[in-house]
Amino acid sequence: MSDNVIEINADRFDEVVLGSTLAVVDFYSTECPPCEDLATKFEPLGRIYGEDVRFVKIFRQGNRELAKDLDVSGSPTLLFFKDGKRVGPKLAGGIRRSEIMKHLDEHLSPERVRELHGRIEPKETVTDVVILGGGPAGLTAGIYLAQAHIKALVVDKALPGGYVSTTHQVSNYPGFIEPLNGYQLSHQMTEQAKANGVQFRSAVEIDEISLEDKTLRLDGFETVKARKMIIATGSRPKPLGVPGEREYLGHGISYCATCDAKYYDGKDVVVIGGGNSAIEESLFIAKFARTVTIVHRSEKLRANREAQAKAKAQPKISFLLNREILAIKKYGTFDMGVTVRDKLTGEETELATSGVFIFIGFIPNIDDFGGRIRTDEWGYIDADREMRTNLPGVFSAGDVNAKHYRQITTAVADAA
Ligand SMILES: Cc1cc2nc3c(=O)[nH]c(=O)nc-3n(C[C@H](O)[C@H](O)[C@H](O)COP(=O)(O)OP(=O)(O)OC[C@H]3O[C@@H](n4cnc5c(N)ncnc54)[C@H](O)[C@@H]3O)c2cc1C
Repeated sequence: MSDNVIEINADRFDEVVLGSTLAVVDFYSTECPPCEDLATKFEPLGRIYGEDVRFVKIFRQGNRELAKDLDVSGSPTLLFFKDGKRVGPKLAGGIRRSEIMKHLDEHLSPERVRELHGRIEPKETVTDVVILGGGPAGLTAGIYLAQAHIKALVVDKALPGGYVSTTHQVSNYPGFIEPLNGYQLSHQMTEQAKANGVQFRSAVEIDEISLEDKTLRLDGFETVKARKMIIATGSRPKPLGVPGEREYLGHGISYCATCDAKYYDGKDVVVIGGGNSAIEESLFIAKFARTVTIVHRSEKLRANREAQAKAKAQPKISFLLNREILAIKKYGTFDMGVTVRDKLTGEETELATSGVFIFIGFIPNIDDFGGRIRTDEWGYIDADREMRTNLPGVFSAGDVNAKHYRQITTAVADAA
């Protein structure tokens, strides 16, 4: 640990943290990959800001009472304190270096910020292959490269793991007799990649990408130069595009059942969509919710028969078909309304619900590539059978590619 980062227990909290003009506190745990990732940012920032800011680490499990008093329930959690009072947001999970700097800079004069930023030393990293995205595709590419003694660096804007880490259960990935927790599977893949020597830059800001030169600029100070590049950036949930959706995202509207279903214990939930994700995630939500109403725009569900049969056999789940969503409203916590129009009769009604989950498909993450990469009509990368894109030395794999089935098996197959 650098000299500017101090580790304390609860008994010194008042003196060290509340007694400082400015302090940032990292509540960490052991065996916590996101905590290890944060440590790689916290300590260098301590060297830059250490004269002005107290950088403090507190072992969460050893200081449970203090953590509880400060409403810290996960690791890592970063809290900021100014003159003995909490300021700024609570940062958790995959925390970016730029986010920490932004919240520290807010409490320093512009001149001092310029001075401190001037101390940041540029860094250059050279690797054989840079992989954008650390989901199943990116991690598999890394494992295969590393085992071939080719230096691979995975760069992810979030923590590695990809979509699988938010999936409650994976039952169709070969090699596991019992269904596997998605987080566990992605954790194993990440650790396997690390054990093979794959390097990572996680929860980073990508300032610039040159597909032609195979270079990246990260977090404003690091340049990565590679000989080849693999795009494995996956896809993200497609928004519904109705009034209220953006406003209440994270406040009653969710795209992730694993993350949020637990908040709907004994409550009524609306699920929008009719494909496999919508039906399978509804089955998961039904473990918590009192009722789940699946609203789908056409007459037939698109999910496979097995998933449909399970959902139809679950008494908590009901279906509203041929309904178009017009708006989502919020009246209070767990008090929402979904306005739907019956496509056959034209009648408009409002469904009362505690929360809304949207599963209506995905869009590829290609925004950073500025239209230079050839895609199909839906924006998915049009790679050839060897995963070569139209740009020399640039390959792509996984859900970001044009293909029929977007699954873990197909993502890892592309990458291999
Ligand atoms: C709810 C749900 C349930 C599912 N259940 C199953 C299942 O049971 N079985 C199954 O086989 N499949 C399942 N899938 C599909 C499976 O999760 C995907 O096919 C798989 O994750 C694709 O892997 P990927 O590596 O291509 O992309 P992703 O897993 O999406 O990973 C992409 C990674 O790239 C990062 N990234 C994005 N943009 C950038 C950028 N510009 N620069 C750098 N990094 C970036 C992201 O942070 C992410 O970590 C499910 C998907 C969902 C949504």
